Amino acid sequence: MDKGKVISETIDKYEQFVNPAVAKLFRFMGLATVEWEAQGSVIRDIDGKEYIDCLGGYGVFSLGHRHPKVVEAVKGQLDRMPMSSKVLFDKPMADLAALLAEITPGDLQYSFIGNSGTEAVEGALKLARIHTGRSKVVAALNSFHGKTLGALSATGRDLFRDPFRPLLTGFSHVPFGDAAALEQAVDADTAAVILEPIQGEGGIIVPPDDYLPKAREICDRHGALLICDEVQTGLGRTGKMFAVDHYQVVPDIMATAKALGGGVMPIGAFTARPHIWEKYVTAPFLHTSTFGGNPLACAAAAAAIGVIREEGLAEKAANTGAYFTGRLKVLAQDYPEVIREVRGRGLMIGVELQKEGIGGFLMSELINRSVLVAYTLNNPKVIRIEPPLSISQTQVDTVLEAFAHGVEAAQDMIEDL
Ligand code: PLP
Repeated sequence: MDKGKVISETIDKYEQFVNPAVAKLFRFMGLATVEWEAQGSVIRDIDGKEYIDCLGGYGVFSLGHRHPKVVEAVKGQLDRMPMSSKVLFDKPMADLAALLAEITPGDLQYSFIGNSGTEAVEGALKLARIHTGRSKVVAALNSFHGKTLGALSATGRDLFRDPFRPLLTGFSHVPFGDAAALEQAVDADTAAVILEPIQGEGGIIVPPDDYLPKAREICDRHGALLICDEVQTGLGRTGKMFAVDHYQVVPDIMATAKALGGGVMPIGAFTARPHIWEKYVTAPFLHTSTFGGNPLACAAAAAAIGVIREEGLAEKAANTGAYFTGRLKVLAQDYPEVIREVRGRGLMIGVELQKEGIGGFLMSELINRSVLVAYTLNNPKVIRIEPPLSISQTQVDTVLEAFAHGVEAAQDMIEDL
């Protein structure tokens, strides 16, 4: 194989058939190569150069890349029956739904399985509307819930919303973490409040400890549903199985995706309390999806949940996260002109920089030192660190060393950035 030719042809095809701006950005970041294989926390490009994956596919690779148990489950299903007939009982989907009921908090019970995070959010919003018979939804400013039209109506960033207006009516946005603002926005016409327990794309924003409990209480008082979007925070990332578990809050509907597929298959799900599902029990085909709940994805997800529990990945995220964040905070103290704040929970870590220009610079410095990171979608000043939850201490130390070099270089360039 002529590797140089593969690289130039792939980049060429991006330029001609995918999007020239994406090709330019990747090149600019020093990423003019083709990813080829991956295992655990390491990605190899076509030339065999290794990168430590600290982006983790925006939170997809909590189990690392190609976890053997997930791969085995998917291969087994592939050899038997990858897609469902849709008319006979489908064991992988039933198994996954039962597992989701087991691991989600409180009495969350029924699940609908889709293919992505945004689909999970769409389904949650529809369920809230049909259950309550109300149409208003309150979401948070700076939130990210996906980019299909319904989820985008909840997403709290105008940059992504404005070009597509008019969006769904009845959506309002309040400052995240501000229970008083939420109180003012919710009324007797509110179908649901939708919140990320910790904002991911908004820049890894952890709300005050009493925020979610207060949101729960406000919803209860007004007969509105609480939807928690755990697409990014779920499945161990923040040091608990779900981020709501830090606050002992049971939402009415929970959306999951990303890590649920074990880093092998795309999948999303929304899970709800039994009485909220009643309208779908009466009319089970009101909400459907051809590929949603397919056996391959469900087999991957069931295996992934098994691995998260057996390997204690949530506890690992809590411990490794505490070490990682602690060391980054020391770095922030040493370089206050570069780093404004280090925050997060478990292995969902945000490093907020003093200037927007530092983000791209630091990202390319880290890439040069074989560490993959990216900034958050809503806030380019925040570098997000979301490695596999099984990342080793040695790998964390390598990343920290690269970070220290990058921050030092940024300090020297601060005037120009
Ligand atoms: N919800 C949250 C909290 C997310 O972080 C994301 C994606 O980043 C989504 C929803 C949308 O997920 P997807 O990109 O799979 O549609």
